[in-house]
Order: sequence, then structure tokens, then C-alpha cells
Amino acid sequence: MKRSAAHLIRPEILDMPAYPVADATGYIKLDAMENPFRLPAALRSELGRRLSDVLINRYPDPSGGGLKAQLAACFAIPPEAEVLLGNGSDEIITLITQALARPGAKLMAFEPSFVMYRLNAQFSRVDYVGIPLNADFSLDLPRVLAAIREHQPAVIFIAYPNNPTGSRFERADVEAILDAATGLVVVDEAYQAFASDSLMDLAGKVEHLLVMRTLSKIGLAGIRLGYAASTPAWIEAINKVRPPYNVNVLTQETARFVLEHHAVFDGQAQDLCRERARVAERLAGFAALTQFPSEANFITVRVPDADALHAFLKQAGILIKNLHGSHPLLDNCLRITIGAPEENDAVLAALTAYFE
Ligand SMILES: *Cc1c(COP(=O)(O)O)cnc(C)c1O
Repeated sequence: MKRSAAHLIRPEILDMPAYPVADATGYIKLDAMENPFRLPAALRSELGRRLSDVLINRYPDPSGGGLKAQLAACFAIPPEAEVLLGNGSDEIITLITQALARPGAKLMAFEPSFVMYRLNAQFSRVDYVGIPLNADFSLDLPRVLAAIREHQPAVIFIAYPNNPTGSRFERADVEAILDAATGLVVVDEAYQAFASDSLMDLAGKVEHLLVMRTLSKIGLAGIRLGYAASTPAWIEAINKVRPPYNVNVLTQETARFVLEHHAVFDGQAQDLCRERARVAERLAGFAALTQFPSEANFITVRVPDADALHAFLKQAGILIKNLHGSHPLLDNCLRITIGAPEENDAVLAALTAYFE
């Protein structure tokens, strides 16, 4: 009994549900913001040859073996900034939270937003402060500024654009938060490839700003690579809690290879933005459906009965994310990842069948 997990694991961990990942076998998979497009076949063969030379008997280069400089060049990271690599940006959220977890430290995020912010606060025993968004998923700036004054959070996470809503907050609001913050401000730009703005230009220049990105949403979810850019003092401190070999050799080599060909990914992101516009235009034709403007590779919608529509699409072989029940502001909301044209056509056809 004394040795059992139920006895020894922290009770708040035992009470948590595991992060839900639906079994997508056989479905058109539009639930997780993956890029539907693969690398062209010639590049895949070349990548196979490159990977066959990787020294898998050796530990990875802990500094990323040139990858940081390549990321800086590809993604316009200012020379003042230093870069940290993570096993996905999920790991970077964990490292930041661990490094800041002093007794009494608070982590602030907005609701609804990316759930890993709140979960990491719980994992690291940091107090969580969730500030609700407005009903249209914009920031309630006066409320945020008042909460910063009251709670003095050690870190504020801002998903820019936001998941699961797709909204990009006003840049002026984010800058106002930067001015008011007494701790680190993390701007999570997981969807930057689909967005019209970025704060990367300020990374390394504004002392307490950290800009975080990932290769996951642009076509490399499987390799797990995220990166953070900030001032040297912040990066060097967070680096101390990083497991030394967190980014494996196959991921490092794959990333180096694809960044040499990163125009391919830029083209795919542009195609997805065009598809997003096409889908949005068609969605506007369904009177029973409300959509929220998106700067990400998904569109969040509100319908009369999200559970029923989610089940109907599943029956039609299409997997999307049901947000209903996850937060009061997401009442009857569904999140639809933008896929390949034929996948989006399948969604639109199923919606037509459902609504008409
Ligand atoms: C998907 C997502 C991430 C996680 O990305 P990984 O690099 O795959 O771990 C981080 N932040 C937001 C807002 C996301 O939507």
C-alpha cells in the first residue's frame, strides 16, 4: 500500500486527466494543426541519405551543432538575441517554468489559451493566474494590467496568435503588457508562419521578452524541435535546467537539412493561408455557424450543437477538435485545422450535408 502510486504520487497529479490524444487511424486528421503536406519525394530521399551518416552511437552536440545560427538566419532572429533549443516548444515551456519556480512565484496566462501553460504551473508547483479573454477572444487589457499589478507574475505566457481561438491579439496590447510586466514575458509564436505579425524584432533587445517558436506547425511536428530567442542572461539561466542532450541527433540533422530547403515550407504555409481564406469564405455561407478570424492554420467556429456536429463529422471520417466543455467562453466551439484542399473540401461537403 505504502509503495503504491496512489499513495506516493502528488494528489493533484493523480487528479489530473492525461493529455488527450485521439486515435486518428483512418480519419482525415484535422484536430492537431499539423501541416498536411509532406516533403517532395526527391528531398525525402536526400534526407534519408543524410540521416544514414548521422552518428547515432554518439550523444548529440549539446549546443545544436550550427543549428542555432541556421535558425537565426532563416527566421530573422536579431543578432542581440541568444537561442535555446527544446524538444518541441512544449519542453521550453517546462524549462521556463522550472527555472522560475521559486516559492510564491506566479505564472499568468489568458483563458482560453494553450493548456500546457497551466499544466506546467501545476507540475512545477507555481501558482497559476488565468485571465479570461473577452467573448470575441480579444485581450481585456485593463483587466490584464490590473492583474499584473495585483499578482506581479514571474512569467506571462502570450500565444501570438492564440490557440485554440486563432485570434492574434493587438500588438499594442502585447507591448503594453511588456511595459507593465515585472517578470518575463513569453510570446509563443507557434503559428507565426500563418500570421501577419511577430515580436521577433524585439528579441534580445527588450530584456524581459522571450520569443518562442516551433517547427511543428510548419510541417515537422514529428521531429520535435522548438526554439526560444531572448537576451543572453535569460537564455543562459534557462539553459541551466535543460537536460544536456534534449534535442537528439536525428532531429538536429533533419532540421539542418530542411532549413537548407526552407523555401519549400514557406510555399506550403502560403498555400495553407490561401486555403484558410477559401475555407473561411465558404464557412461564411452557413448561417448557423459563427467563425472567429484566424491568423493560424486552423479556424475556430461556434455552432448550435458542437457535440452533435463533432460526432457527425467523425461518422463522416473527419476528426476535428471539440472545444465544448473545455472553457465557458468556448461553449459549442469546434476547432478545424486547415488541411490539404481535398481534405478541406471533405469538411465543407460534410458541413453542407449537416446544415442543409
Ligand atoms: C502546438 C503549440 C505548441 C507546441 O508546439 P511543439 O513545439 O510541438 O511542442 C506551443 N504553443 C502553442 C500555442 C501551440 O499551439
